[in-house]
Amino acid sequence: MPFFQNRKLRWVFFLYWVLLAYIIAALIWWFIALHWQNEEMTQLRIKSLQPNQSNYAAALAEIRDAESRKKHQYMGEGITFFLIIAGGAALVYIAVRRQFKMNQEQQNLMMAITHELKTPIAVAKLNLETLEKRQLEHEQQQKLIRNTIREANRLNALCNNMLMNSQLDAGKYGIIRESLDIHKLVKDCVQEFQRRFPERVFEVQIPDQERIIRGDYLLLQLATNNLVDNAVKYTPAQSSISIAVSPAKNAIDIAVADQGQGIPDEEKSRIFQRFYRLGNSATKSAKGTGLGLYLTQRIALVHGGKITVTNNQPQGSVFTLHIPTAKTNEPS
Ligand code: ADP
Repeated sequence: MPFFQNRKLRWVFFLYWVLLAYIIAALIWWFIALHWQNEEMTQLRIKSLQPNQSNYAAALAEIRDAESRKKHQYMGEGITFFLIIAGGAALVYIAVRRQFKMNQEQQNLMMAITHELKTPIAVAKLNLETLEKRQLEHEQQQKLIRNTIREANRLNALCNNMLMNSQLDAGKYGIIRESLDIHKLVKDCVQEFQRRFPERVFEVQIPDQERIIRGDYLLLQLATNNLVDNAVKYTPAQSSISIAVSPAKNAIDIAVADQGQGIPDEEKSRIFQRFYRLGNSATKSAKGTGLGLYLTQRIALVHGGKITVTNNQPQGSVFTLHIPTAKTNEPS
């Protein structure tokens, strides 16, 4: 399908350039023909003059003047035509390219989603069928149930990201700025991960007292979940993940640090692009759509904040969500 589409697009572009070249060639030809015609007319008019007539010089000057006016006229018209054609061609070119990019993105999304939806559904189905058909020991049953819940959670996270992505794209998501306790929000997210991944070590540094900021609960929860989810996905099972919330100047920093492979410097800005996934085997083998960080960055931006990624020591990455606290009643 992409091959067919590319071939179709190549034909469209080929036709576009041929037509444009034809129009410009016709314009140049029109210009040359008018120029010749103008010169011929001038020569004929000059020939029709009598060299010994009394007003010869004045008549010649008038003919030359008429020739020059005509020349300016068709040159002006030619330039105007050319500018209109060039402007129109540029607009068509930009529109076709934009349309192609949108189609390509749509296709990437569909491919990533289809793949991402199929696996958890297949795993959950198989687990449930096994539980139904076979008499398993309690421990084995628990293992299958935990596994099924994990897949269902993955589906849930994927659906949340997709939904939010299309709602933000369509401008249909109205951001709610409510007063919320950011310490509690992050703690709840981490607790959920501790429940889902009991084998992983989460080091949590979140002050006990409340920290009220204004923001969208659902979006901030999604952003935090995406960062912790990536830290779980892209790091070895035995390595720990640290989650810290700390005050910054008129802002709050939510930092998620892991001890995975880290992200090469040249990739650090690219990973926030929609659908972008690193090409190394460790990250490609993990499941994903390349939507999580793109959305997380958007969420930071709609809160007037930003997201940064730095290297962790001795290895891994630190993702920091920097969210301005604006004017709240609470001391910083
Ligand atoms: P997804 O996880 O669905 O692929 P993301 O947008 O969340 O999409 O991440 C984009 C890419 O950035 C990932 O595919 C992965 O290659 C890389 N990445 C994200 N977080 C980490 C991390 N903590 N450690 C290493 N690589 C990461």
